[in-house]
Amino acid sequence: MKTSIGIQTKKPEKACADKKCPYHSNLSVRGMMFTGTVVSAKRHNTVTVEWARRAQLPKFERYEKRKTKISVHNPECIAAKEGDMVRIMNCKPLSKTKNFVVIENLGHVFGYQDRMEALAASKVKERSKKEEQEKSAQPVKDEKDQEKEEQ
Ligand SMILES: [Zn+2]
Repeated sequence: MKTSIGIQTKKPEKACADKKCPYHSNLSVRGMMFTGTVVSAKRHNTVTVEWARRAQLPKFERYEKRKTKISVHNPECIAAKEGDMVRIMNCKPLSKTKNFVVIENLGHVFGYQDRMEALAASKVKERSKKEEQEKSAQPVKDEKDQEKEEQ
């Protein structure tokens, strides 16, 4: 195990045999470092990390919120789960879509599960509203058609 990866982080307690681990293999990290939330951990040794950023709109002299969402390698010794806050850092390309690696797990985001459930519920509501509108719109069309037919 390396004594350090070059930046101050909490080292993972477990050891691992991951060839793409910044702590237990010779993978070096360099470049940009970000902190984000794990929104998916379904893939093998890969997590999807998302974080919000600000983008300037010069015309309106204001900012808008945008999100960055990327695939990140999740070493076996760190094993971040969905809803975890993680620190990630740039490294050499590990696959077609991965050139970042998780270097530290900062713990679970408070209320992540509740937020995701609320989001899913609001989507269901929107869908049912649309269906209701479609249902209420259809009979009106039918009546008009019938009137046309009668004429
Ligand atoms: Zn490791």
